[in-house]
Amino acid sequence: MIQTVAFIGLGAMGYRMASHLPKHFEHVWVWNRNFDKAKQHAEAYGTQAVELAQAVQADVVFSCLPTSQDIEDLLAQVELKAGSIWVDCTSGVPSSAKKVAEQLKQHGVDFLDAPVSGQTIGADNATLTVMIGGDKAAFERALPVIQAFGKLIKHVGESGAGFAVKAVNNMLLAVNLCAVAEGFTTLKAHGVNLNEALDCINASSGKSGVTETVLPQRILNRSFPLTFALPLLAKDTGIAVDLVREAKLSAPVIGLAQSLIQTASDLSEADSDFSSAVKLYESWSKITLE
Ligand code: NDP
Repeated sequence: MIQTVAFIGLGAMGYRMASHLPKHFEHVWVWNRNFDKAKQHAEAYGTQAVELAQAVQADVVFSCLPTSQDIEDLLAQVELKAGSIWVDCTSGVPSSAKKVAEQLKQHGVDFLDAPVSGQTIGADNATLTVMIGGDKAAFERALPVIQAFGKLIKHVGESGAGFAVKAVNNMLLAVNLCAVAEGFTTLKAHGVNLNEALDCINASSGKSGVTETVLPQRILNRSFPLTFALPLLAKDTGIAVDLVREAKLSAPVIGLAQSLIQTASDLSEADSDFSSAVKLYESWSKITLE
């Protein structure tokens, strides 16, 4: 019986995801490192801002922090409640999920790696895709709570499988972003109108999420709104490269995209949106994608 639900980490994603929980559950506890954000959330959505020690005593505890290391550091500080489920929505590292799931099992707690996709707009509209690794029975118990912010919610395998799917998804985003930057820079160098070209490509076989949303809504209009930070995409591509390496495979496109995104991130101003990775190509070619 799930009576209390908690959300830890009220960042760009967590703040919005947690906002849907009070529509379905009476007792929703929130905690954030900068505690003012938790208080603001409580005022805005009727959640309850609580200390970390209390938040981890909920029946279902969600977390959404930047990295798996942040999760491991946080877990090292707290006492967990036996019988609870920890649902980690961080885009994390598969090997960390396996290790943490094993550790938490010793305390009678199930750990699910449950990263999300759909960006802040998906979190606002409760239409996120959630890819989940871990114990199937724990997944089934947590499912009604995850449905508060998820639309497509899938159990994809054992611990770490959710993080692996997310890393590969974001690697595909990175590869597309690089390829689109290269292709559209080339078109502009040949004097082609980029908006007309985009209409054609979005009705053709080369279309992707990047051409359908990122290019028109973030790049060509030069808005680059910060909703998903470029260093977080670089982190995800690094996780994908490690997965390739662990499997002893050769994946040259993935390796190249990772170094391009990492370089773009290293050269970018702090607080750059992931879409601003194309500025790396713009600085090389002296061609602006607008
Ligand atoms: P943000 O940077 O907006 O938020 C990070 C949150 O984590 C903040 O609440 C921050 O607290 C907290 N935090 C950071 N470090 C620590 C720490 N060491 N201990 C405790 N709390 C900490 O990130 P996002 O919400 O954008 O991303 C969160 C996760 O979701 C990442 O793994 C990201 O890759 C993934 N993701 C992001 C998407 C997006 O569109 N933004 C889409 C899908 C997945 P404080 O407020 O105190 O700084």
